Amino acid sequence: MTIVDIGIPKRLVEFTVDGSTVRVPEGSTILDACTAAGKDIPTLCYGDTLEPANACRVCMVEVEGSRTLVPSCSRKAEPGMVVHTDSERTRTSRKVVLELLASATDLSTTPGVAEWMEEAGADPDRFGPDAATVAQPAIVDNELYVRDYEKCILCYKCVDACGEQWQNSFAITVAGRGFDARISTEFSNPLPDSACVYCGNCVEVCPTGALSFKREYDKRSDGSWDESRQTQTTTVCTFCGVGCNLTLHVQDNEIVKVTSPHDSSVTHGNLCIKGRFGWQHVQNR
Ligand code: SF4
Ligand code: SF4
Repeated sequence: MTIVDIGIPKRLVEFTVDGSTVRVPEGSTILDACTAAGKDIPTLCYGDTLEPANACRVCMVEVEGSRTLVPSCSRKAEPGMVVHTDSERTRTSRKVVLELLASATDLSTTPGVAEWMEEAGADPDRFGPDAATVAQPAIVDNELYVRDYEKCILCYKCVDACGEQWQNSFAITVAGRGFDARISTEFSNPLPDSACVYCGNCVEVCPTGALSFKREYDKRSDGSWDESRQTQTTTVCTFCGVGCNLTLHVQDNEIVKVTSPHDSSVTHGNLCIKGRFGWQHVQNR
């Protein structure tokens, strides 16, 4: 007999989203409920393996009786709550937030953002040519991954993945304030001189491509990166006995990057340097 662990039964919370009644297990967020109901709420800093950072403000929704808009990624559903995801206030907020982000950072490799901006009617150019940006050269100081901080929206996901939520290496954090705030190693040291252990777990969660695998970065730079020609195959890492799942992204019969399924009960998308980057021997034909 197979025994399936379905966890502790939870009470259902009933509330209203855009006029429809929804029921979700107690403890679910508004975003969880909307996702389950098939509603596409844009978000950048939400990570399915991380605690909500409440940083990007893209997923704001309106809750009747609440003075301000609330972040749907962290606000828990409550019985009787009346939520609007597509009101004038939410549309205005999303438009301005996307405009501010896109005017200061390069969102060209952020999946989904072009559609969200079009839908919201966002026009980042309206701040004029003198709008401050975080434009800067990409940092290529090792052979494994690249840090291109002009694409960084300061969502904190890499810091959380590197810190106490997963890796516990604490190699990176947010330094500076205001427009000078940035992700940094200790004393801005090059990555090889920092506490980084090259697990790549920060790259796994980065939503914008500010952190990218070196092979991907090189192929994007020379114009040969083509996701339509890539396959993804999930397999088990052979380096040790833990049994981490690796998803091999292959283009033209070459591994171009390795990710890991976020729903894996063993690793939740996290790997070590060997599983993440130790695949070159496979191609040494
Ligand atoms: S590769 Fe791992 S250790 Fe290095 S900064 Fe990223 S999460 Fe931290
Ligand atoms: S580097 Fe990526 S994950 Fe880290 S704060 Fe910037 S956008 Fe977020």
